[in-house]
Amino acid sequence: PFPFFFFKDLKMKFSRSDVNALMEITSRPELVFVRGSGSWLEDHNGKRYLDFVQGWAVNCLGHCPAPVVKAIADQSTRLLNPSPAFYNEPSIELAIRLTGASCFDRIFFANSGAEANEGAIKLARKWGQLHRKGAYKIITFDHSFHGRTLATMSASGKPGWDKIFAPQVDGFPKADLNDIASVRALVDDQTVAIMLEPVQGEAGVIPATTEFLQALRKLADEKGLLLIVDEVQTGMGRTGKLFAYQHAGITPDIMTLGKGIGAGVPLSALCAREEVSCFVHGDQGGTYNGNPLMTAAGVAVFDTLTAPGFMESVNARSQQLSKGLLALSAKWGMKGERGVGLLRALMLDRDDGAAIVEAARLMTPDGMLLNSPRPNLLRFMPALNVTADEVDLMLKRLDEVVQKVRG
Ligand code: PMP
Repeated sequence: PFPFFFFKDLKMKFSRSDVNALMEITSRPELVFVRGSGSWLEDHNGKRYLDFVQGWAVNCLGHCPAPVVKAIADQSTRLLNPSPAFYNEPSIELAIRLTGASCFDRIFFANSGAEANEGAIKLARKWGQLHRKGAYKIITFDHSFHGRTLATMSASGKPGWDKIFAPQVDGFPKADLNDIASVRALVDDQTVAIMLEPVQGEAGVIPATTEFLQALRKLADEKGLLLIVDEVQTGMGRTGKLFAYQHAGITPDIMTLGKGIGAGVPLSALCAREEVSCFVHGDQGGTYNGNPLMTAAGVAVFDTLTAPGFMESVNARSQQLSKGLLALSAKWGMKGERGVGLLRALMLDRDDGAAIVEAARLMTPDGMLLNSPRPNLLRFMPALNVTADEVDLMLKRLDEVVQKVRG
């Protein structure tokens, strides 16, 4: 049988030449990608796709960006994984860059967003044991998404998850985003932190307002709580600033990064201010943490994002995309658009998001990859170096797809 969980209905053994036949009987879209470059992907039939999903915001510089590929290639001939018990050069270089560009003093590298968030939760709990008489509860938000490990699922406010994998990890009361009274009402002696995405991504691109973020910081200071921002989807550069918390001018205590930090390789980071960095050796770790192959990629990503003019072009493309989506919305009687930087959503007036995504993928001769995290919404996460022509092309094609779906 085909050896993947989600393909258990398959009877056929996988081989390259079987791909076409095999895909006809899977429940997943019949797609196997074989190569990519910038905003374009190519499947096993040689069909090309304009990619405005980019692996869920992972490929922040598009597919196979030259500086990242080169950094990985160079590092691969030098040193792979000396041991997580020792430091290595690329990790030090990346940590210096990240601490220099943010309000954080300590960095711990991990392999996924969920793992970085697990680290953040553990760090807050340990800090609670040491400084807050064992307080351990972390207030999180309805519809939030923090990952798929048991603790991060429990922290997430995704409807249904509290039941499917019950019992949950204890201690994650849920408040309403942008409603400071709902947060305040949950704070008690056992509360140690507040954790949120500056823009809720999986929920459908819902930004926390600047006033809300500032009010959270104030509340945290007043009650002696830690403020944790999950920037796995918003960092780095996606919102038009390196980190989304910077839009609000606040100083969080802990931040997690993932996805775009490695531009396609499994790299994430737990970042903390000195005052809360209470981990000692052995508290958190893993075989591949701080792997130099990944952090070398991270250095190349960071240097590309912080090159002169890069963020200006992210903001220019963001305005172009926003304007184009608004025009489409007006033309089709949709409900407008929202987002920050190049994390944007088009609010549909009907529940035909999945149909639009499917029709876009099936377009010929070239397809297009879009995403619909909710039935009445499309989400756009193009490469941060997407070109003006590619944005225009996507908007033109989207118009054609809506025409086709809505007849
Ligand atoms: N936090 C946020 C805000 C995310 O968007 C995601 C992934 N969608 C995660 C955490 C989990 O990251 P990973 O899939 O790398 O574990």
